Amino acid sequence: MKCLSGKAGVSERGAVLLGDSVACDAFDADRPLRVVTHAHADHLGGLRRSLKSCERVLMTAATRDLIGVVNGSLPLDDGAVELLGYGEPFEFGGERVTLVKADHILGAAQVVVEDAEGSRVAYTGDFRVEGTAPLTDCDTLVVEATYGSPSFKRAFKVDVRELLVSMVEKRLRHGTVYVFGYHGKLQEVMQILHHADVSVPFVMPERVFRVSKICESHGMRLGCLALSTEKEGKELLDENLPCVAFYHMNARRRVGLVGSSRICVSGWEFHSPCRQIGEREHLVALSDHSDFDGLIEYVRRCKPKRVVTDNYRVRHGVTLAREISRRLGISAVAMPR
Ligand SMILES: [Zn+2]
Repeated sequence: MKCLSGKAGVSERGAVLLGDSVACDAFDADRPLRVVTHAHADHLGGLRRSLKSCERVLMTAATRDLIGVVNGSLPLDDGAVELLGYGEPFEFGGERVTLVKADHILGAAQVVVEDAEGSRVAYTGDFRVEGTAPLTDCDTLVVEATYGSPSFKRAFKVDVRELLVSMVEKRLRHGTVYVFGYHGKLQEVMQILHHADVSVPFVMPERVFRVSKICESHGMRLGCLALSTEKEGKELLDENLPCVAFYHMNARRRVGLVGSSRICVSGWEFHSPCRQIGEREHLVALSDHSDFDGLIEYVRRCKPKRVVTDNYRVRHGVTLAREISRRLGISAVAMPR
């Protein structure tokens, strides 16, 4: 038995089901179309099986390119993948699928499915409310719920991006600054620093470098990039010279441990835009998701008839559904339960 509410829902395995044909962000055996909203791992569930058995696997070109780097063994060139630009419709079995830009990481998309009778259902994917156009006129809207509890609010009085730039500039006077974060977010930090004219080299290991190169090939401007394994980058790091070293969060306990300044960028911080978490280590509250107020504001702008909250990826769907019903008077339910 599938979880559905007005032709949209979320399966027990995290597939966001839209209309009759579409499963987003996880494999579903009954759905001929798979949509990948973006390249983060919690949205790639069962992608290998989808590539094998679905009629089509839809995604943006940037998402395809990023997945090629973060999960290089997937057969992305075998013919099932259909690249869709934002706003470009794909017709299948009487339904029309459209991807709409989401402000999250490069290539991220919201998904709209319409049928011949005019029923319209949609899924936000992960998003930041600031740069994401609201999907209006939906019968059912499926909303991500990462920060779905009222305690997850980032009502800071300072601009976190400006704060980050000044922290990095100050610390560069003493040598290398390490920045730890997830793919996509790291490249956003590079873009912020480059835009603010922080002109030291940006040094990084191969995978971060390759993700960054993909971002550049899709129009992001990131600055002067160097590999940590090549002579120049290696020297900068070995001698603690002024540069910014970008590493995946997973490397936090392995690199930059002696004598360097360290900055972790994370959305899981709500009390302060910046907090000291180690001797030379700070956490900066830079998020690529909406906080609780942003989620509520987004749903308010969309005015859907019904809301389903994604209760699979993070377990705040039940709270978010309750708050949407209470604050906006819109029928809302969390799935899976
Ligand atoms: Zn994401």
